[in-house]
Amino acid sequence: MSGQVQGWCPGALRPMMSGDGLVLRIRPHAGRLMPDQVLALADLAETHGNGLIDLGSRAHLQLRGVTEAALPALHQALISLDLLDASAEAEARRNILTTPLHRDGDETLALVAGLENALRHAPVLPAKFGFAVDTGTAAILGGASADLRIERAAQGLILRAEGMERGEPVTADSAIPRLIEVLHWFLAQGSATRMARLAARPPLNATELPLTGAALSLGMTAAGLCLALPFGQMQATTLRALAIAPLRLTPWRSVILEGIAEASAPGLIADPHDPLLRVAACTGAPGCLSAEAPVRDLARSLAPLVPAGALLHVSGCGKGCAHPGPARLTLTARQGRFDLIEDGAASASPALRGLSPDDLPAILRGRLDPPL
Ligand code: SF4
Repeated sequence: MSGQVQGWCPGALRPMMSGDGLVLRIRPHAGRLMPDQVLALADLAETHGNGLIDLGSRAHLQLRGVTEAALPALHQALISLDLLDASAEAEARRNILTTPLHRDGDETLALVAGLENALRHAPVLPAKFGFAVDTGTAAILGGASADLRIERAAQGLILRAEGMERGEPVTADSAIPRLIEVLHWFLAQGSATRMARLAARPPLNATELPLTGAALSLGMTAAGLCLALPFGQMQATTLRALAIAPLRLTPWRSVILEGIAEASAPGLIADPHDPLLRVAACTGAPGCLSAEAPVRDLARSLAPLVPAGALLHVSGCGKGCAHPGPARLTLTARQGRFDLIEDGAASASPALRGLSPDDLPAILRGRLDPPL
């Protein structure tokens, strides 16, 4: 097997080459890991990788710094942990986001299991085509990418297609068969890659709005304690310290410790006012082969300058992996220096070009509002 396949979403069976070795993406079922899985993954990150673990925007984990020679043993270990799919295609199809606020006895985990089972027999899907099971007390995943969603509505559940405001009422029993029908309809439309790009309207009797809830915040939630990780990355020792309860991964690069009210470990952010939550930064150099400068230490040093409510994005190149949308200020690395973009994404036209990292604090102070 080749370690790198361009144009595909990386996975555990299709790892991606980066500046620090292979990156292995692992998709826990329903975004949830039991304590024994957490401990084993921390050990695997140290034994077969460089000990660094990323949390991703699909509520997945990434082990970094893996060698090609380590893949067979790593795959065998993931099979024993029930964390490896039967094939790279099955892994890519199982692109399901699960609400991290599901409750004991609600339909969520059964719906995810049913969808995973149905997708095993589905045709190959376009890269990035995804699903959301957003059936806690309210739908909270609306800002995350998904083509077909099962959501909570004021009365029961709905099936909603991306690009439509309303969804079709479904039951716990009918939701998955109906979703698969709509999926086959989508595939019959031709070459579209995402539901929202279709010219035709999906065949749904879309009468109900989703019941939307507040975004997840750090601290105590209905499911347990929610903690963030600086830049969504941790050392294996931090992951090991989280093996005290089932762990729910969120698409916002945070974790929830189920049923736990207090916990701490080096490298975890519990304070919602922590300045590190106001900066986004990708792997940058040397970890990413596309990066034109290191970015995380710079973002860390600039974080105290960013006022509450603003976001500073420091990107190793114009791809903007850490924050694909616009930010109040974005610094995009170009050949070791930085371009400054205001209210745009990393690839947008810059207001200033070729800035030295040493000059950035003074430049940011003059541009962030309120003045610092
Ligand atoms: S934004 Fe560019 S440098 Fe940063 S991780 Fe993505 S590809 Fe690499």
